Amino acid sequence: MSSDRVSGLVILQRGRSKPVQQRHPWIFSGAIDRIEGDPADGDLVDVRDAGRNFLARGYINQRSQIVVRILSWDQDEQIDAQFWRERIRRADDTRGALAANVGTTAYRVVHAESDYLPGLIVDRYGDWLVVQLLTLGVASRQAPIVEALVELLSPRGVYERSDVDVRGKEGLGRRNGLLWGDEAPEITTVLENGWGFLVDFQRGHKTGFYLDQRENRALMPFHCGGADVLDAFAYSGGFSVYAASAGAKSLTLVDSSAQALELAGRNLALNGFSNCTTDCVEGDVFSVLRGFRSQGRLFDVIVLDPPKFAHTTREVQRASRAYKDANLLAMQLLHPGGRLFTFSCSGGVSPDLFQKIVFGAALDAQRDAQIIRTLSQGIDHPVALTFPEGAYLKGLVLRLV
Ligand code: SAH
Repeated sequence: MSSDRVSGLVILQRGRSKPVQQRHPWIFSGAIDRIEGDPADGDLVDVRDAGRNFLARGYINQRSQIVVRILSWDQDEQIDAQFWRERIRRADDTRGALAANVGTTAYRVVHAESDYLPGLIVDRYGDWLVVQLLTLGVASRQAPIVEALVELLSPRGVYERSDVDVRGKEGLGRRNGLLWGDEAPEITTVLENGWGFLVDFQRGHKTGFYLDQRENRALMPFHCGGADVLDAFAYSGGFSVYAASAGAKSLTLVDSSAQALELAGRNLALNGFSNCTTDCVEGDVFSVLRGFRSQGRLFDVIVLDPPKFAHTTREVQRASRAYKDANLLAMQLLHPGGRLFTFSCSGGVSPDLFQKIVFGAALDAQRDAQIIRTLSQGIDHPVALTFPEGAYLKGLVLRLV
């Protein structure tokens, strides 16, 4: 348990204050001249420039490349229970439109740095809150954070899904379990734009559902009436449910996870779409699509929503090849006039680079294609202007000529 007391000073090197003054929330080891006061990892520290002028206040972890994550630029602001309550309340307030929509009961309440709460993710699934405490600074302040969530959002329970590798960079292990409230259900039912979805927040991917695709999934109905639809990397069938809602002729879902496909089948049934011809294929998208290509199969709409292929900037080149291969295959499987919904959730792949990759795929596929929409992450995954790293999901809707 960390205290609310500032227990150290981080003095920056001369000429390295500008990003902090511009309110970027990360301080890397290379910008630091010295650390005074011997703060323990997780403690609060004040950041000062080379002339010892106050710049900001945050929490420290010398095990991480990001040594300090900033919480406040105001010298008078205490980082206490009141602070966490106020910041979470502010984040929750900005989700007012989603909270007021009775057709949507699942959304992200806190998007970490982009909501000025570094390291903290909070997702709401109906009466349940699922949190990720990604840094030591927030993990050691679990008590006031959970207290604030309970007080402000009145959940039935708060469940932790911190079973993620990035915690290793902070010297933390993986954690998964109930933090507060009732025993967590095996499956909970949420609504998204009026459609029902079963979510397994204890074991599912991320915190259980790909909330960031809500607004993009809602575009499917415009293109899927009477269509043969291929949902590649389908997970629990998010895009397929919307395709079925518009009267798709057939659905083909491909995913490597049998549990995900099982849930997808149940999600289609839950919304009354059992009559749509549905084929769930468990396997690797690359080989399944190659198989379709050799069978000469064609589709009217293809969704390509792969997992994060690049976890670091070093992986971008290899990831680019994988994105290109997947897009090339998809383009070869589309009828003239067909639509491709194609995405990348790798932060290291910029929208520009992604468009170039897709262009390269079209050249190789010898297909002309037009961008009819440019897509990004949902409104509950905002990007603080001071933190462009918060933008990670990009997508294009293409019309194949
Ligand atoms: N479109 C989904 C989210 C997809 S997440 C939605 O809207 O909810 C990516 C999915 O790709 C995961 O379900 C994962 O199991 C699957 N996956 C990852 N690599 C794969 C591969 N090589 N072949 C098939 N599926 C894969």
